[in-house]
Amino acid sequence: MNIAIIGGTGYVGLTTAVCLASKGNLTYCVGRSEEKIERVRHGFATVYEDNMEKILKDSLRNGKLKPTTNLEEAVLDSSVSFICVGTPCRADGSIDLSQIREVSEKIGLTLEKKKDYHVVTVRSTVVPGTTDDLVIPVLEKFSKKRAGADFGVCMNPEFLREGQAIEDFLFPKEIGIVVGELDKRSGDTMLRLYKTFDARTMRTTLRTAEMIKYARNSYLAKDISFANEIANVCEKCGADFLEVKKGMEMDARIGKGRFLEAGPGFGGSCFPKDVRALVAKAEEVDVEPRLLKATLEVNKLQPTRMIELAKQIVGQLKDKKIAVLGLSFKPGTDDMREAPSIKVVNALLDEGANVSVYDPRALENARETFGNKVTYATQAKYAVNNANACLIVTEWAEFAEGKLYNAMRQKIVIDGRRALNPLNLAPGFVYHAIGFNGPVKT
Ligand code: NAD
Repeated sequence: MNIAIIGGTGYVGLTTAVCLASKGNLTYCVGRSEEKIERVRHGFATVYEDNMEKILKDSLRNGKLKPTTNLEEAVLDSSVSFICVGTPCRADGSIDLSQIREVSEKIGLTLEKKKDYHVVTVRSTVVPGTTDDLVIPVLEKFSKKRAGADFGVCMNPEFLREGQAIEDFLFPKEIGIVVGELDKRSGDTMLRLYKTFDARTMRTTLRTAEMIKYARNSYLAKDISFANEIANVCEKCGADFLEVKKGMEMDARIGKGRFLEAGPGFGGSCFPKDVRALVAKAEEVDVEPRLLKATLEVNKLQPTRMIELAKQIVGQLKDKKIAVLGLSFKPGTDDMREAPSIKVVNALLDEGANVSVYDPRALENARETFGNKVTYATQAKYAVNNANACLIVTEWAEFAEGKLYNAMRQKIVIDGRRALNPLNLAPGFVYHAIGFNGPVKT
C-alpha cells in the first residue's frame, strides 16, 4: 500500500514512516522543513532511537521511503495518509490543534483533485471529538467532498514508548492496535495495512479511540504520581519503596508490570501535556477531574525532592560543584521535552550551585535548554570529577558502574531512579535515593 506520513520528521512521524516502509509499503515521509527532510534523505534520523538509522537507510536504499516536503504529491500517490503533527498544550493546558487544522486543510485541498479512494488517519493525540468536529468538517470544506461517501477517516492512536519506539511499532503485541473508524470501509482499509502485525486489534468509534489514548496515558501517569507519593512517605518512615513495591506486586489485584516507578516525576512529550489536555477537556464538559489534577500536582513538586535530599546531606549548595547525570526524560532517547532534569538543574542553579551535566544522547538538546548556564561533560566521569555531589536523574545503564564516582571531591550520590546499587560504590560514600530508607554510608 502507498502511504503518506504528514509530520514525518517528528518522533511519531519518522517512526511510523520507517516502520511502514520496512514492511514493504511505499511510504512518503512528509516534512515541512527542507533542511530536516534533506537530513532524512541522507539517512540521518531527526530523533534518536536504537535501530532507527539502520531501518531508515535500508528503506532509502530499497526505494520504499520517499522523504519530501511536497504533501500534495504524497497524498495524491497514496491510499492512506497519517496525520502525525504536534498537538502541544496552550498556556491554560488545553490542546492546541492549529497544526492539525492546517494539515487537514492541505489534505482537503488535495483530496479535491484525487480520484481514488483515500483514508485520512489521525495518528496524533487529540481530545475526544477532534476528528468528528474539526478534522472531518475541514476535510469536507476544502475537498468539497463527503467523508464516508467520497473518502474515509480513521483515528489510530500511537502507543509507542520513546526509547523502544521501533520495537513498539513493529511488534505491538503488548500494546495492541486501536482503530477508530468513521465507517466500515475506512476501518477495513486500515486493518489491511496492519494485517501482517502480530497484535490484538480493536475497532471502535473515532471518539472512543481518541479517549482510549488519553485514558491510557493518564492512568500510567497516575500510577507514577501514586508511586512517588508512597516513596516520599517511605523515605520519612524508614521503609524502602523498592521493597514496598515488590510486596505490592505480590497481590494479584495489583500485579507486576504496573507503572509504579518512583523518581523525580514523569516528563516527556506526552504524559504531562496529555493529562493537562484531559483536565481541560473534562472541565469543558463539566466534570471536575480531581484525580487528574492531583496527578499533576504531585508531579510538579517531585523533582524538588532531589534538591531536598541533596541539601539534607551536602548542606548549602551555593558554589558547590554538583554533577547531574541523565537529562533525557527517560533512557534510550534524546528527548528532553518536559524532562524532570530541567527542573532539577534550574533548582540547583537557583541555589547557586555550579552544575556540570552529562547525558549519553541528549547533550545537543541540553545546550538548547540550558545555554551557557551549566558545564557540559562529554563523558560521565568528567561531570563527576571533583564534584561535591552527584544527582542521577535518568537511569542510563552506565550510571550503575560504582567506580565511575571515585573521582568525586565529596563522595555523595543522590539517586533519583535507583539506578545504582550502593553496594557497588567504594567505601566512604554517602548514598541516598528517592523512596530509600537512607542515607547510608558505604
Ligand atoms: P514532534 O514535535 O516530534 O513532531 C511533529 C512534527 O510535525 C514536527 O516535525 C513538525 O515539523 C511536523 N509538522 C507540523 N506541521 C506540519 C506540516 N504542515 N507539514 C508537515 N509536517 C508538519 O511530535 P511527536 O512527539 O512526534 O508527536 C506527534 C503527535 O503524536 C502528538 O500529538 C503527540 O502527542 C503524539 N504522540 C507522541 C508520542 C511520543 O512518544 N513522542 C507517543 C504517542 C503519541
